[in-house]
Amino acid sequence: MARIFAVANQKGGVGKTTTTVNLAAALVKHGQRVLLVDLDPQGNATMGSGIDKRSVPGTVYQVLIGQASVTEARVFSEAGAFDVLAANRELAGAEVELVQVDNREGRLKEALALVDANYDFILIDCPPSLSMLTLNGLCAAHGVVIPMQCEYYALEGLSDLVATIKQVHGKLNRDLKIIGLLRVMFDPRSTLSQQVSAQLEAHFGGKVFNAIIPRNVRLAEAPSHGLPGVVFDPMSKGALGYLSFAAEMIDRIKTL
Ligand code: ADP
Ligand code: MG
Repeated sequence: MARIFAVANQKGGVGKTTTTVNLAAALVKHGQRVLLVDLDPQGNATMGSGIDKRSVPGTVYQVLIGQASVTEARVFSEAGAFDVLAANRELAGAEVELVQVDNREGRLKEALALVDANYDFILIDCPPSLSMLTLNGLCAAHGVVIPMQCEYYALEGLSDLVATIKQVHGKLNRDLKIIGLLRVMFDPRSTLSQQVSAQLEAHFGGKVFNAIIPRNVRLAEAPSHGLPGVVFDPMSKGALGYLSFAAEMIDRIKTL
C-alpha cells in the first residue's frame, strides 16, 4: 500500500518543490516506486522532473475534475524514474470548477485510491496557500512534511499551517499527521540558523527530521537542466542531504 505525503507550507519559496522532486528521485534510488503529484498551477515540480508543462498530455487537473483517471493522466519522468501527475496553469481553474462538485476536498484522495497498489510513496507538492488545492492534498495524505528555512520568521506561519492540519484531521481526514519538519537551505555557519534550528528541536522534538538540507547551489541549478538535484549532481551536499532524508522517510513509515 502506498504511503501518501503532502509537502506543504503556505509560504512561497521555502523549498517545497525542491523537496518533493528530490525526495521522489532519492526514494527511487533507494528502490522505492514513486508517484509525484504536482498540485501547484506554477508547474515547477513538473518542469523540475524534466516534463514540459506546456505540452504534457495528461495533468492532475483532468483527474480533479473527473475527466481522466490517474492511470490515464500520469506521465513518466525519465529524469527521475518516477511517475508524475503534472500541472500547469489550467489547474488554477480547478479552484472555481470544484465549487459545484460533491466531495470537492476528497477528489484527489478518491482518484489516488485506485493506484494505491502501484506505489510505495505518493508525494504531493502543494501550492503556497491554504486553498482548495492544498485541502485536496491534505485530505489525500497520511502525513505532512513541512520544509522550513531556519530564519527569523520561519515559525510565524507555522501556527496557521498546524491549525489547518488540525482542522483537516478533525473534520475530513483522521489519518492525517505531521510526519516531520525538514530544515532546508541550512547555513551551518550562521548563528541565526543554529538558534532557530535549536528552537525547532526544543518545540517539536522528535518531529524534526535528523536529516538537514544545506543551502547548495547545485539544487537550485538542477531544474534548468530538467533534472532533480540528486540526479544532476549526486555527490553534491544538497543531493546527499536528500538521500539521507529519503532513508529517514523509509525508516519512519515503518512506525506509522
Ligand atoms: P517552494 O516550492 O516552497 O516555493 P522552491 O523549492 O521552489 O520553493 O525553492 C525556492 C527557491 O529556492 C528555488 O529557486 C530553489 O531552486 C531554491 N532552493 C530550494 N532549496 C534550496 C537549497 N537547499 N539550496 C539552494 N537553493 C535552494
Ligand atoms: Mg513550489
